[in-house]
Amino acid sequence: MNPTVTDATAGSPGGGGNGAATVPTGSAAMPTSTGRNVTIRIRRQDGPDKPGRWEEFNVPYRPNMNVISCLQYIAATPVTTDGRQTSPPVWDSGCLEEVCGACTMLINGKVRQSCSALVDKLDEPITLEPMTKFPVVRDLFVDRTRFFEDLKRVKAWVPIDGTYDLGPGPAVSQEKNDERYPLSRCITCGCCLEACPQYTPANRFVGAAVISQVRLFNEHPTGAALKGERLEVMMGEGGVTDCAKAGNCVEVCPKEIPLLESIASVQRQATVHAIKRFFNR
Ligand code: SF4
Repeated sequence: MNPTVTDATAGSPGGGGNGAATVPTGSAAMPTSTGRNVTIRIRRQDGPDKPGRWEEFNVPYRPNMNVISCLQYIAATPVTTDGRQTSPPVWDSGCLEEVCGACTMLINGKVRQSCSALVDKLDEPITLEPMTKFPVVRDLFVDRTRFFEDLKRVKAWVPIDGTYDLGPGPAVSQEKNDERYPLSRCITCGCCLEACPQYTPANRFVGAAVISQVRLFNEHPTGAALKGERLEVMMGEGGVTDCAKAGNCVEVCPKEIPLLESIASVQRQATVHAIKRFFNR
């Protein structure tokens, strides 16, 4: 996903360009400024190996604004509180409705999505930092490739051949659907990985989200065809046994996925798989 530097200041003479310090005026789509400023402190970093620094900005307050709208204003008007022209901050985003997970960052030290972080509910100054468990690409934009590679490692999919009509899939009981549906709500935001003390850049632990996807697909009647392969990964380096049950993952998951239940379930599955493998040698 590309970093987003979009212009929230539709109708503003300075909108869409760098450095045009124009405050958007009221329109039908955007309530007028109240005269109050919101102070935003952003952890800036020009590239993966560049030093970090803090920059502070004032953003005209509008009722119901969120952190993304602050970032959009700053991107269109990148002037710090001490009047210094700077580059527009870079961040990642997509849906802006807490579905894609891309705009996840540390907001006042807590990992969450910036689209659903409402200014009215945040202490000021509002600090924005990139997640720490993934490499920084630039500013608030991180590279979550490891997460998606781990989903590939565990084959987090239902193996079907889509080149011809397979007819209806196997029936799934309502009870099983009810169990699996919450797991399918994962938005791959990475909050659970950021909060996990076991998940670090120095190891290969896959983290709660990936373990939960193993449970989701192992419990699908067709997905279960790859159950053994998934459990082999879970029993290897970085697998489910590396979880130390800190429980932070469930605290920060924006979709309230029962991650500890998933971890316990996959641990049981891995144990049964190991016993079967022992007796089938
Ligand atoms: Fe985000 Fe929850 Fe999925 Fe973890 S399990 S990536 S916190 S939605």
